[in-house]
Amino acid sequence: MPNYKTRAIVLSTLKLGESDRILRLLSREMGLISAVAKGIRKTKSKFGGKLEPFTCADLFLYTGKGLDIILQSETVESFKGIKSDLRKVACASVIADMALRCQLEEPRTESYELVCYFYKQLDETDSRLKLLLLSFQTKYLTMMGFEPLIKNCCICGCDMLLNQGFLFSVSSGGAVCGNCAGEMSYSRRLSAGSIKLLQDLFFNPLEDWRKAEIKSARSLEEVELLIKAFISYHLEKNLSSYRFLKVMDQISREWGN
Ligand SMILES: [Zn+2]
Repeated sequence: MPNYKTRAIVLSTLKLGESDRILRLLSREMGLISAVAKGIRKTKSKFGGKLEPFTCADLFLYTGKGLDIILQSETVESFKGIKSDLRKVACASVIADMALRCQLEEPRTESYELVCYFYKQLDETDSRLKLLLLSFQTKYLTMMGFEPLIKNCCICGCDMLLNQGFLFSVSSGGAVCGNCAGEMSYSRRLSAGSIKLLQDLFFNPLEDWRKAEIKSARSLEEVELLIKAFISYHLEKNLSSYRFLKVMDQISREWGN
């Protein structure tokens, strides 16, 4: 491929040699790509601060023998609101980590669109950051085809909302009612509030993510742990960026749900 243009989000960067960086990019057209920004760490670099993580840019690239080389970049969205708030940086890192590790077989525009949409939301909001992150994760899992069965019991099909608390089998990928629990191994007991939150997260339209109902801190915590376990089991990925998020969570008492 000759030189080419693409719109992409910078997910992460790695130092290379004296003054370069390798950028891991999520391209709208091409999915995940890696490219080198030469001289980016020099004081007088033409890139300046334009290719920091979580930036969306129009790029012009040269097809190298190894990695492609970025020749020019023009910022589309810098998402300054994310970069000026460490809590948001922690959330953006988990989003980037998930996009980097949960690779799709074929590049899909939806992957780019989802990351871009949630970075924009993150940029503009100061509250409900945990809910925002869960919303991204559930929508991303759905896009990848990993949607847990939560409306009805995996086995008998009864309506889970009629149950006061139920079991969730991470390995079977769905909810199990009390009557059926004896028939299969399960890993987690969830409150009725948690199942409602899970259903809102998975089934509400994307733009209604703020409307997901959080009945208690317990249901939020249960769902966070469940999604984490679900990603870990089904995608065989442990997101290392969770550690950063956890530290930020402990430091900050200001988290809005
Ligand atoms: Zn059942």
